[in-house]
Amino acid sequence: NQQIHLVSRPTGEPSTANFQLVEAPVPDLADGQVLVKNHYLSLDPYMRGRMNDGKSYAQPQLLNTTMGGGTVGEVVASKNAGYAVGDKVVGMGGWQLYSVVDASQPGVLRKVDTTHVPLSAYLGAVGMPGVTAWVGLVTIIDPKPGETVVVSAASGAVGSMVGQLAKARGARAVGIAGGAEKCDYVVKELGFDACIDHRAHSDFKSMSQALKEACPNGIDGNFENVGGMILDAVLMRANAFSRVAMCGMISGYNGEPIPLAAPQLILVNRMKVQGFIVSEHMQHWPAALAELGQGIATGKYKHRETIANGLAAAPEAFLGLLKGKNFGKQLVKLA
Ligand code: NDP
Repeated sequence: NQQIHLVSRPTGEPSTANFQLVEAPVPDLADGQVLVKNHYLSLDPYMRGRMNDGKSYAQPQLLNTTMGGGTVGEVVASKNAGYAVGDKVVGMGGWQLYSVVDASQPGVLRKVDTTHVPLSAYLGAVGMPGVTAWVGLVTIIDPKPGETVVVSAASGAVGSMVGQLAKARGARAVGIAGGAEKCDYVVKELGFDACIDHRAHSDFKSMSQALKEACPNGIDGNFENVGGMILDAVLMRANAFSRVAMCGMISGYNGEPIPLAAPQLILVNRMKVQGFIVSEHMQHWPAALAELGQGIATGKYKHRETIANGLAAAPEAFLGLLKGKNFGKQLVKLA
């Protein structure tokens, strides 16, 4: 087996030196366990938080152990009556080629149907990121037809689904993304009404003006993935009784300060601001996965992936994700 371990903790920006590729034997299976050959590894921004030692909503990754992470793969050996060789499964296999999973534990492994949805999509649009989009949009923002919803990191795994789900509910969807190519995709492929390039509008004044033009009726819902200046500019255009789903603050994940310039706007506009962690909303997963799976299977919803090749490429691809080098869901192809 090959695994990638976290061998040191970064201060500020992480580097490939924080990771090490390690060879390890595959242990024999005990009763209840299955051996999964992982086909794709998901790279996600939360992994940056787990590289730190400090308190966060996720437990820190232990040093010199295999990096945790979502995977999809195929059962290649089974000592569990519920799983047969050949079953396609999604789980938390980690940064490794093979994982031994105690499938008798509830929720650690889920069988998936790849007839109409490609296996890799279960890590993105029809997986944790898609459900994140659904939970924040549907349960916190709850957009009404004609309302305007803004989402940052709009071409990414979560953001791309937020806008499409908002459009399906009759809302106006406005994205914020890095670069003309991503913005083009967000409007032309994903069907958002507008998209603002945060690289071309990199200061508050310019972003605020661009939002004013893209949101002539103000902003009723904000799905926040980035924080900092982008959040400040959105709050400036917020309507009374608007809602903010606080999903991520990626502009501060390397420890950069992300002050809020005008918190009084939350009061002035009588806003609802709610943070959430998707794994604490398990009751919504079935409805979310049903809508997302149906949408991807029928082509109603579009998704895009950036796929790094081979386990050894995972650290570099992960560093790229934190800098916006990914275009859509960042995956690593393992098999
Ligand atoms: P994405 O596919 O959106 O990739 C991350 C993107 O963030 C990059 O492509 C880049 O897009 C953007 N970005 C990175 N740094 C900056 C910056 N300094 N300023 C502006 N944009 C930046 O990742 P995900 O869809 O997986 O995650 C999106 C967000 O959702 C993250 O904040 C993540 O932590 C959060 N999340 C939260 C969950 C929860 O339960 N609360 C669950 C899953 C994700 P661009 O090039 O467009 O700038």
